[in-house]
Amino acid sequence: DIHPGRRGGEGIEFGHAESLTALVAAARLPEARHAAPLIAAPLVDGVALPGHVRDVISPIDGAVIGRVTEADAAIVTAAMAAAAAGFSAWDATALTTRAAALVRAADLIERERGPLIALLQAEGGKTLDDALAEVREAVDLCRYYALDARRTLSPEPLPGPTGESNLLRRRGRGVVACISPWNFPLAIFVGQVAAALVAGNAVVAKPAEQTPLVAAHAVRLLHAAGIPATALHLLPGDGHVGAMMVGDPRLAGIAFTGSTAVARSIAQDLAARDGPLVPLIAETGGINAMIADATALPEQLVDDVITSAFRSAGQRCSALRLLCVQEDVADPVITMLVGAARELAIGDPRDPATHVGPVIDADAQDRLLAWLDRAEKQGRLLWRADADRPLPRDGIFVPPAVIALDRASDLRDEVFGPVLHVVRWRADGFDDLVEDIARNGTRLTLGIHSRIAATAERAIARLGHGNVYVNRNMIGAVVGTQPFGGSGLSGTGPKAGGSDYVRRFAVEQTITINT
Ligand code: NAP
Repeated sequence: DIHPGRRGGEGIEFGHAESLTALVAAARLPEARHAAPLIAAPLVDGVALPGHVRDVISPIDGAVIGRVTEADAAIVTAAMAAAAAGFSAWDATALTTRAAALVRAADLIERERGPLIALLQAEGGKTLDDALAEVREAVDLCRYYALDARRTLSPEPLPGPTGESNLLRRRGRGVVACISPWNFPLAIFVGQVAAALVAGNAVVAKPAEQTPLVAAHAVRLLHAAGIPATALHLLPGDGHVGAMMVGDPRLAGIAFTGSTAVARSIAQDLAARDGPLVPLIAETGGINAMIADATALPEQLVDDVITSAFRSAGQRCSALRLLCVQEDVADPVITMLVGAARELAIGDPRDPATHVGPVIDADAQDRLLAWLDRAEKQGRLLWRADADRPLPRDGIFVPPAVIALDRASDLRDEVFGPVLHVVRWRADGFDDLVEDIARNGTRLTLGIHSRIAATAERAIARLGHGNVYVNRNMIGAVVGTQPFGGSGLSGTGPKAGGSDYVRRFAVEQTITINT
C-alpha cells in the first residue's frame, strides 16, 4: 500500500474545519452503482450478458449500496478474446498518447474525489482520511507511471561496434490480467491497470469480490480519459473468475496483489497450463515486525505503533503485526500502548472523528474473533477494546486487541485486522530475536525504534525486508519516493510506485538493420 503518508491530501487540511466540512459534503455516492462486466467486443454487449447479479453490502451498517453482475465462464472468454483483439491497436498507439491518457485519468480521479471517497467508505469501510489518501495515491500512481513510461519505455538506439543500426524497442506483452485485493480497491486496482496499459498491453481487470463498485467507477473514468474500451476490460467476480483468466491461453502476463496462498496457486496454475510462459508479478502479505530497544522514545514509539497496527483497522499489507520490545522497557511501553489504544474511536468511518472502522466482511470478522478467543483461552490476551465499552452494533467490527507471545516465530499467520502481538526480548538476545523474525519467511515491512544507529544497521543487514522504517510508523509509502513491495513470501517485485515497475509490463525487441 502506498499513499502520500500525511493526513489529508491536496488542498485538504484535516485540522481546518471548513475544508473538512467541504470534504464531508462532497463525499456523496455516485448515481451509477451497478458494476457489470465491461467488455468491448462485437456481438458481446457487457450489459446484455447474463452473469450473476447480487447486492453489494456495506460493512459499515449492512446497507445495500449497489449491485454487481459477476462474470461467468462465457463472459471471461469473451473478455479475453476482446482484449486479444484490442491489443495490437493499443500497442501501436504512440507512447506519448498512452501516457497522456493516464495523466487525464489522474485529473478525472482528482475531480471525482467526492464520489470516490463515498464509495471507498461505503464499500470498503474506509475512514475519511484513509479514503482521501487512497484517492491521492491513485492519482499519484497514474501520474508517476505516465512520467516513468516516457523515461523507461522510449526506443533506445544502441550504438556499437557492429556497423549496423541497432534499436531496442519496448512494447506490450499482449493481454495482461490485473487481479487486485479489496484493501486498496482504488489505488492498487488503478496502479496495476495504469502500468499495464501505459506499457501497451490490453488489460482485463478483476477487482476483489468485496469491492466491485469502486473498480467499476475507476474503469469508467479511465475510459472517459481516453483509454479505449478495447484496451481495458472489467470482470467483476470472485476467485473463480480470476482462475479462469489465469487459465486462458490468450494470457500474456499477470499483475496480482493479494495473499501469498493465492499467489502460489496462480503460479501453480500457470505452470500447469499450455501456451506461452506467462510472467507473474505478485505482491503479497507480510507478518510485519517492529523492533524497539530501550533507547526508543516511548511516546513516539507508542504513537507509531498505534498508527501502524490499528489505522485502517489493521487491514494494510504493511501493517504492524508483531511488536518486539526490549524487556527493560516492556512494562511501561505496553502500559502506555494499551492506554493510548483505549482512546481509539471505533465506529462509523464516515465520521471524521473515527480512527477505526469496520473490517471488510463477516468472514474476516469470524476469523479475527476466533483468533482473539483462542488467545483469551491461552491466557495471552492483554487487552481487547470491547472489554472497555461495546462496539457499534450495526456493521462488521472487530475490537482492536493486544496479544502477548513468547517468541516472534510463534506468529506464523498474517492476522489481517486490528490485532497487535507483542514479544519481549532481552538485551543479550538481539541476534536471536532478529533470526527469529526472519523465520516466518515474509519480507515486506520492518520497523525499528532505536536511538543507536548500529542497532538498526544490524537488523537491516540481516533482514531483507522490502520497506524498512526507522523511528517512524510503518505504513504509507510515498509513490516514487518510497517504492513499495517485498520479497520472499511477500512477493516477486518489482516495487509498486518504483522505477522498475512499468518496464516489467513490457517486452524488449532488438531490431538490427544492416545499413
Ligand atoms: P486474496 O484473497 O489473495 O485475493 C486477491 C485477489 O485474488 C482477489 O481479487 C481474489 O478474488 C483473487 N483470487 C482469489 N483466488 C484466485 C485464484 N485462484 N486465481 C486468481 N485470482 C484469485 O487477498 P485479499 O484478501 O483480497 O487481500 C488481502 C491480502 O492482500 C493480504 O494478504 C495482504 O497482505 C495482501 N496485500 C498485499 C499488498 C502488497 O502490496 N504487497 C497490498 C495489499 C494487499 P476474490 O475477491 O473473489 O477472493
